[in-house]
Amino acid sequence: MSKKISIELAARVKHLPPYLFAAIDKMKKEAVSKGVDLIDISIGDPDIPTPWHIVDRMKKAVQNPEHHRYPSYEGMPAFRQAVADWYKERFNVSLNPQTEVLSLIGSKEGIGHIPLAFINPGDVVLVPSPGYPVYPVSTLFAGGEVHMMPLLKKNRFLPDLKAIPNDVLKKARLMFINYPNNPTSAVAGRDFYKAVINFAAKHNIIVCHDAAYSEIYYDNMKPLSFLQLPGARDVGIEFHSLSKTYNMTGWRIGFAVGNHAVLAGLGKIKSNLDSGIFQAVQEAGIEALRTGDPVLRKIRDTFQGRRDILYKGLKGLGIEAEKPKATFYLWASVPKGFSSSSLVAHLLDKAGVLGTPGNGFGAPGEGYIRFALTVPAKRMKEAVERIGKAL
Ligand SMILES: *Cc1c(COP(=O)(O)O)cnc(C)c1O
Repeated sequence: MSKKISIELAARVKHLPPYLFAAIDKMKKEAVSKGVDLIDISIGDPDIPTPWHIVDRMKKAVQNPEHHRYPSYEGMPAFRQAVADWYKERFNVSLNPQTEVLSLIGSKEGIGHIPLAFINPGDVVLVPSPGYPVYPVSTLFAGGEVHMMPLLKKNRFLPDLKAIPNDVLKKARLMFINYPNNPTSAVAGRDFYKAVINFAAKHNIIVCHDAAYSEIYYDNMKPLSFLQLPGARDVGIEFHSLSKTYNMTGWRIGFAVGNHAVLAGLGKIKSNLDSGIFQAVQEAGIEALRTGDPVLRKIRDTFQGRRDILYKGLKGLGIEAEKPKATFYLWASVPKGFSSSSLVAHLLDKAGVLGTPGNGFGAPGEGYIRFALTVPAKRMKEAVERIGKAL
């Protein structure tokens, strides 16, 4: 009999915190196996299907044998052109599709890979906290050090750039920012982006703006693109995703735009690791980017209706919350007597409602719970009722 080898995880994996949503998934499975009629508003995965014209284009594209081969690394010219057209139309920003647009297998893929292109061991990456867990993890995978920038209510959930110590700034090479923000739902204005551009230019820091939620906004207040600000293209790039905008989370398609040298660095990593996006999916992506405003308005109206139910409902229960101007998340304060985790466990146990503990997005998220607007209005009403009874 052969001897079993000992299988040891690498230090970078051993020292990882458990992926937030994996832990929640486990709690969820336990509840469901006990027969709980669960209202899951924990994860940002829209329940609304992908608009049909996009699915239809995919059905046709998949039959084309040209698409059955390896795609190009950087994205089909037609897809990159569609991105440039969308940017011009949506933000009035002109992009060169050859040099300033890079396709991604979902924006998570690009966010996960970019530190590998620019971070040496000991370099610092500035990361918002609470924030999308991939920013710190991708930093650690590249051997970088994470410096957390707390997002606090008193600063309207924007990082305080002046609070970053000088010795950190000397080692900082890259920063992540994300507006409209997951998990706080905060939006950023011109002044903030201007400050970021000046800060990045002064300290020679690459800015990676994650704009996954730029199209999920309410009350007709359209979020800005970072690239609308003069000088933005000199310091960084913007990540976009078709996942949230077009309810396409499962399709795995996104893109990055902006500074050519930064995109080229990311492209170099990608060309050694992946082989691009299935071309049929890129064709569907082109179709998605050409979606008319009435379809998108309907999606936004659906989320806005749910937002109003949840926001008003929680207010009625005396729970303090930020009224989302964008994103499909609601960031609520945990009532007295609970921590983020104890509230999530309590609501799962007593109400069959699953939220996400704020501290799972980073220590400054303690004292908050995040709800996602990803169930129909009727279920949202029921969630509010059940939360009311459980508290
Ligand atoms: C959902 C999400 C993403 C990733 O989206 P993809 O499906 O990988 O394109 C990126 N950033 C934030 C903040 C998100 O919430």
